[in-house]
Amino acid sequence: MFWAGCIYGCKNDGERFGFFCHAALEFLQQSGFHPDIIHCHDWSSAPVAWLFKDHYMHYGLSKSRVVFTIHNLEFGANNIGKAMAYSDKATTVSPTYSREISGNPLVASHLHKFHGILNGIDPDIWDPYNDTYIPVPYTSDNVVEGKRAAKDALQQRLGLKKADLPLVGIITRLTHQKGIHLIKHAIWRALERNGQVVLLGSAPDPRIQNEFVNLANHLHSSHCDRARLCLTYDEPLSHLIYAGADFILVPSIFEPCGLTQLTAMRYGSIAVVRKTGGLVDTVFDVDHDKEKAKAQGLEPNGFSFDGADPAGVDYALNRAISAWYDGRDWFNSLCKKVMEQDWSWNKPALDYLELYHSARK
Ligand code: ADP
Repeated sequence: MFWAGCIYGCKNDGERFGFFCHAALEFLQQSGFHPDIIHCHDWSSAPVAWLFKDHYMHYGLSKSRVVFTIHNLEFGANNIGKAMAYSDKATTVSPTYSREISGNPLVASHLHKFHGILNGIDPDIWDPYNDTYIPVPYTSDNVVEGKRAAKDALQQRLGLKKADLPLVGIITRLTHQKGIHLIKHAIWRALERNGQVVLLGSAPDPRIQNEFVNLANHLHSSHCDRARLCLTYDEPLSHLIYAGADFILVPSIFEPCGLTQLTAMRYGSIAVVRKTGGLVDTVFDVDHDKEKAKAQGLEPNGFSFDGADPAGVDYALNRAISAWYDGRDWFNSLCKKVMEQDWSWNKPALDYLELYHSARK
């Protein structure tokens, strides 16, 4: 009751999380559990970095080292800047994003201890062979059959025409970061190419939510059999879209890592992305990134574009949809290939272990 009372007494998220950070450190101190590494993520646990150094390090927790990870520099800049200064090592969630933000004043003076390590997905949660939300379990061996059944179920559930058409899925927060104007453009482009579009997304900003409600209504009258916008948060539906789509579009303006494209690949969907942040490190264009993929021991796995204007989206989406129409065998083999790439924590975990070891030296 006392704890709950304190938390409810907090005026804002900053105070609430500050209180939690104190509580976590107090727990470590009093329980006698002395970790080698205290790893804090983003602004909400950032206070641990300075509370630890200022108040706890000298009282029994001296062997612990603090690692701080930036997940998105847009949120909580003050906390992030302070934690960057106080931590022994700092990371962000992809090598490319680490370079993109290296000039930011919050980061620039800490480059000597700053690293980019990719996020991973949990392959047990995102597993088309063990997924109660999709109709036919599949691996890369029966990806065509599995995805056909999932597309069928998706079309049925959303009242779309049951037809063998290229289906573009979009699963996203609807915010500026995610490239809203590019998303809108892509919807129309996909429809022009006689494709189907399913968007699952919600906007924290009511004005943006409203814009999409209007677009949803418009599409409902103009393209009711080929477009559906689901303007809500619905994890079960996201599984069915990952499985039933041919393409997952991620046209972010910036993207620290991005999980959507990784999950898409796990379900044999082809990522169509803007070249930014973690999207650069995980999606290798079939026409342009053969060498880059090879350097990672991989084969190209998607379509990407530069720039932030509609012409860029067109360039990637047109090639993707044409590939679907023109060479289904090739396209199916690409789906199989992307499913076999490992975007789990296997490799990032090794990178973190190495970082933890170096933090302790
Ligand atoms: P961010 O954390 O910036 O939103 P990420 O790509 O890192 O972007 O992670 C987004 C995650 O949230 C993905 O797993 C995606 O499937 C999920 N997601 C986003 N919007 C929705 C939604 N409306 N319904 C269900 N899942 C969603």
